[in-house]
Amino acid sequence: MSSEAFVLRLQDYREADRIVWLLSNEHGRLSALARGARNSRRRFTGQIDLFQRVRVEFAHRRGQGRLATLTEARALSSYPLLRQDPGRFAIACVVAELLTRIAPEGDIDPALFDCVGLVLETLADEKIAPGLGLAAAAVVRLLTAAGFVTNWIHCARCGRAVPSLEQPERERQPFALEHGGALVCGDCLSPRGTARRLSAADCLWLAQACRRMECAPATTSPGNVIGAAFDVLRGVTSGPLKAERFLFEILR
Ligand SMILES: [Zn+2]
Repeated sequence: MSSEAFVLRLQDYREADRIVWLLSNEHGRLSALARGARNSRRRFTGQIDLFQRVRVEFAHRRGQGRLATLTEARALSSYPLLRQDPGRFAIACVVAELLTRIAPEGDIDPALFDCVGLVLETLADEKIAPGLGLAAAAVVRLLTAAGFVTNWIHCARCGRAVPSLEQPERERQPFALEHGGALVCGDCLSPRGTARRLSAADCLWLAQACRRMECAPATTSPGNVIGAAFDVLRGVTSGPLKAERFLFEILR
């Protein structure tokens, strides 16, 4: 079988083999054993590396949770900057681990696959500085593509639109993100529920970021918007990502 895929994780196995975790467009997420991958440059052109977009040939495993056998891999986009620049590497680690949590094994999702391509292209763009604003954009875009963020444009209860920056300060309603990812206005916020307060700039950026990949601007609080994205993630997966701590160590 053949497919395009992104390399999410790699682990050396025995003397010469590697286990490769992939998100493919035709077979969903899968893991495969690449026999002799550390020695064979012919079958695994230019070596398989993290976060690459590759074309792979593989023989399917029998049964859920079993390893496929990877027979060939060719890099289509290599994205060297994602492995060389510490900030971009930290964000790409978050993206890869996030995908292993939100993309079920074997589940084919073309919209999510295309979104991963866009996110990695943006992370590898040297004109865009790697910071928490970029990390937040990547997480919000992926959560939206996977269907975990459905509407951050209106209050989830009364339908009031998020404030615009053109509105005078005194007319801007406060908004908050409730546990579980519902965006609500100040009037609808449950007094007992836990929620993350958002400034008008944070709120407006989140509304835009779920529709297109756009770095959080300096007017937002990057710590707050990435926190909002991770709040949503906690609502849908068990426990924080391992890569979260690394991200905050690198991009303080
Ligand atoms: Zn409301």
